[in-house]
Amino acid sequence: MTDFTMKTDTDGVAVITWDVQGKSMNVMTLEAWPLLDGLIDEALADDAVKGIVITSGKDTFAGGMDLNVIAKMKESAGDNPAKGLFDGLMESHAILRKIERAGMDPKTNKGGKPIAAALPGTALGIGLEIPLACHRIFAADNPKAKIGLPEIMVGIFPGMGGTTRLSRKLGAMGASPLLLEGKLNDPQKAKAAGVVDEVVPADELLAAAKAWVLSGPAIVKPWDEKGYKMPGGTPYHPAGFMTFVGASAMVNGKTQGAFPAAKALLSAVYEGALVPFDTALKIEARWFTNVLMNPSSSAMIRSLFINKEALEKGANRPVVADQKVQKVGVIGAGMMGAGIALVSALAGIQVVLIDSTQEAADKGKAYTTAHLDKGIARKKTTPEKKDAVLGLINATTDYAALAGCDLIVEAVFEDVGVKAEVTKKVQAVVGPDCIFATNTSTLPITELAKASNDADKFIGIHFFSPVDKMLLVEIIKGKQTGDVAVAKALDFVRQIRKTPIVVNDERFFYANRCIIPYINEGIRMVKEGVEPALIENAAKLLGMPLGPLQLVDETSVDLGVKIAKATRAAMGDDYPDGEVDEVLFWMFDQKRLGRKSNSGFYSYDDKGKRTGLWEGLTAQYPVADDQPELTTVQHRLMFAQVLEAVRALEENVLEDIREGDVGAILGWGFAPWSGGPFSWLDIIGAPYAAERCDQLTAEFGARFTTPALLREMADKNQEFYKRFAAAAKAA
Ligand code: NAD
Repeated sequence: MTDFTMKTDTDGVAVITWDVQGKSMNVMTLEAWPLLDGLIDEALADDAVKGIVITSGKDTFAGGMDLNVIAKMKESAGDNPAKGLFDGLMESHAILRKIERAGMDPKTNKGGKPIAAALPGTALGIGLEIPLACHRIFAADNPKAKIGLPEIMVGIFPGMGGTTRLSRKLGAMGASPLLLEGKLNDPQKAKAAGVVDEVVPADELLAAAKAWVLSGPAIVKPWDEKGYKMPGGTPYHPAGFMTFVGASAMVNGKTQGAFPAAKALLSAVYEGALVPFDTALKIEARWFTNVLMNPSSSAMIRSLFINKEALEKGANRPVVADQKVQKVGVIGAGMMGAGIALVSALAGIQVVLIDSTQEAADKGKAYTTAHLDKGIARKKTTPEKKDAVLGLINATTDYAALAGCDLIVEAVFEDVGVKAEVTKKVQAVVGPDCIFATNTSTLPITELAKASNDADKFIGIHFFSPVDKMLLVEIIKGKQTGDVAVAKALDFVRQIRKTPIVVNDERFFYANRCIIPYINEGIRMVKEGVEPALIENAAKLLGMPLGPLQLVDETSVDLGVKIAKATRAAMGDDYPDGEVDEVLFWMFDQKRLGRKSNSGFYSYDDKGKRTGLWEGLTAQYPVADDQPELTTVQHRLMFAQVLEAVRALEENVLEDIREGDVGAILGWGFAPWSGGPFSWLDIIGAPYAAERCDQLTAEFGARFTTPALLREMADKNQEFYKRFAAAAKAA
């Protein structure tokens, strides 16, 4: 059985069915392309065939190109990969163009056979680019279906004609949310946006497509007609001019120029709009080749798609029986507990939400009510669903309600004594098989486990704030944590549809361990007299979502002070961040605590909107006459994080570099274009990284000392994803 089969009915419609065996969703491979091509040739040449319908044997159409293939395209493109890639892309364009022209006379546009796409459900990426080459797109009225071109989300752009066809079909303005943001629509919305042509009941899909094919429809695409004008105008048309100026500003505003694919996409649309269609396809192929040649695209695909999915599917899960959670007890209904209760109930898990007063417990539950009310207002959920979800949460002060819980997530105050007392109270009620997890962000799991009567069943499940938005969950194994607890935590994270990483128990675990040096480096530069705007913009230009100073404002200055004091107490004379503390403690003394006090490194208006960097900062720490190069500031900020990730690997806090990369992007927004800290080091190369560390150490201090592992890899000219590939695969 091949991926594509064809059957011609007595009425003369050839139905090509895409049905990849052994997969729940169709994905395109390099081997399958020629099969489709062959069937199109056959149908066009067969006089008995009046028209063609391309559909799927599944309840979805296709999920896109196999990203594993795209990630390796450059490697498999021969000695001259740019040429190999470009030629390959042009072959794909030729297949789609053949569908679009369907045997018409090139000069007169006469003849040709109508070709319709019939989409039973989700159609993404090339799963929409093929339909866009057809003459009419029918979609089944399936509200669960997602239709769109999400390529930009993983660092590429629609490079199989999707960019050129959609921008000509809808105009640059209409196409831009779909291309630049990867926005997906259900069939009705896709029709309203002009992406699909007809939405029909699912059981009438094939019949409707066939009837259209047999109706003798006009099939010449607008852009193949004489006098075609792009909707909204081309770049030199006054209206088009406005669109392109705006789009360019928007893309640069959003990406700070740090994402090569967004820039390339915009160039392909702009340049393509100025030339005839076939030349536009060539331009699209050139820009797509450019993106594929950039190491950013394969690094992004690897981390944000392949490895993220592998971790979600349990790549590092111990082999023990299913540990799906039935009833979870959440202790502490504050900011974190309220969010944990929400995501658990949304996943259909029964929740007992406990706090010391009924009022506090109710307030925690009210967070879910507010979330669902917002969902109803936005038509994302229904009153019935709201009742069902709220019905799953029992907000109480009564620990006896925890009986029957198979998982506890404790999110009370960050205090060893309070946590120990709660642990004991819980264990007096729950059964011996119940797993106890703490959401601590700074306290050692092994230490907290001492309050438990079974350290084997004690684990860290570290959520990020806000819980309902943040995708990453860091699972921390204490010294004695057993496999069942790890599996329980992983199965829970899977139920609530987040991405897990599993790390070992050292100070600040993984994410906070890396983000603190980033913040500290930013503050240290303020003390040195580096212009604060330079620090913040240097970070943004790296693709970091927040500059270090804004990040302190968001997480609060007092939290920073608390962490600094605790770290100093633990490290004693080895504590390296005295200079940082001077600034941080001074801000604390000024009562500028960040967003929560509406004043911090930034100034805020009455509504809490940031109005700019606070001028008092440079009054206290004057800006030096000599300012560093942008790249120096960027390297300081980047290496501060990355070296910590390498040390975490050296110390076995990280057991798998995939977790280090995925965790960094999802946990604290580490420059996503790079694929993560280890991918970034592979891009710049270990020898250069070590050399740069030596320079930074000489200039700025021992915190940039090249870790032994990186030094060794530099000497041997190794890459992380080659050296650690075996471990990543075996996991
Ligand atoms: P919070 O102060 O908002 O909430 C703590 C809640 O615990 C309060 O409602 C309090 O009444 C309740 N509580 C205290 N003692 C209790 C007891 N003995 N029994 C029952 N309830 C009790 O704090 P938070 O920000 O939600 O943080 C909770 C935990 O999560 C801390 O360990 C913190 O380090 C960790 N954490 C916080 C963040 C964050 O960004 N805020 C992120 C990750 C982890």
